[in-house]
Amino acid sequence: MKKNFILSKYPWLNNYYNKIIYQFQNKKNYTAYIFCSLNGLGITFLIYEIIKWIFCINKQKIYSCSICNNCILVQKNIHPDLYIIKNNIKQVSIGVDCIRNLINKISKTSYRDVGKIVWFPYLKQLNDFSSNALLKILEEPPKNTYFFLQCNNKNELLPTIYSRCQFWNIFPPNEEIGISWLKKNLQNNQILKKQSIKSALRICNYAPINALYLLNNNIWKNRNIFYNILISAFETDVMNLLSILNNKNILFYLDWIYLILLDVIKLHLQINLKFFYNLDQISIIYKIFNLIIMDKIKLMIKKILFYKKILIKINTINYKLIIINLLLSLEEIYKS
Ligand SMILES: [Zn+2]
Repeated sequence: MKKNFILSKYPWLNNYYNKIIYQFQNKKNYTAYIFCSLNGLGITFLIYEIIKWIFCINKQKIYSCSICNNCILVQKNIHPDLYIIKNNIKQVSIGVDCIRNLINKISKTSYRDVGKIVWFPYLKQLNDFSSNALLKILEEPPKNTYFFLQCNNKNELLPTIYSRCQFWNIFPPNEEIGISWLKKNLQNNQILKKQSIKSALRICNYAPINALYLLNNNIWKNRNIFYNILISAFETDVMNLLSILNNKNILFYLDWIYLILLDVIKLHLQINLKFFYNLDQISIIYKIFNLIIMDKIKLMIKKILFYKKILIKINTINYKLIIINLLLSLEEIYKS
């Protein structure tokens, strides 16, 4: 039995796990729980661990045994009393029929006599009809059935659903915990400078798992090249950015441009460098600072956020055309 599994894998989740399991141990638990957090904090792992504990037939205090049949079925994602309701295509909503189907299934007795668990990993996939159908279940939940609902933002759910659940806002760990976790988990014992690790963590809104992914990715290794191309594009022709932006990493790159421009604004405002996102790119920040005045940077940021929203929201859009439009707008602001 791996007693401190959560503690060792994602230490920032330990406290949440302990508190929720404590409720179940003392029969003070709720029927439905909402977990609201950024991506990249390991919430899916937390929920699996809680589910394992609820289903485990050989619990050891707050820990599941990890070896009984139920634990293994949960680990393999095939426990017959666990219903994970999601649409594999993230943008497609869950229809009301799916919820009606679920009601039929959970109104029957459980297969393994340990209750039932319904898990919605993406609450925002519910539309008005399916949200209302879920609300009806939460108003009169079947016996011994628990609900785990996940969202990135409280606004993704109906206030009436919110009021029927225990709400857990899960925050990223503080910077020191994030940095020490990243140092332990970097691939092939990579030795990166603390400023670089810190910058990745800040760029990823302090979500350590996302920062780890970024640090292990080739685009991080090429970040200096990216920023140098950005500077030379500002100096010569903004349209030169098209060749590097027009690929699957576009959202990353737009975030990077946005965040470095925010740092340039901080520099204009004479904010202490220790509060910057890109602590490892101070010379680039100074170069942009010398090239573009603050009012123009503010306008550029607005454009970047506007076009980023379009790229996220509309799936079927011609990416290249959107990027060209963005670059033309940036050029217009820059040259005005
Ligand atoms: Zn077990």
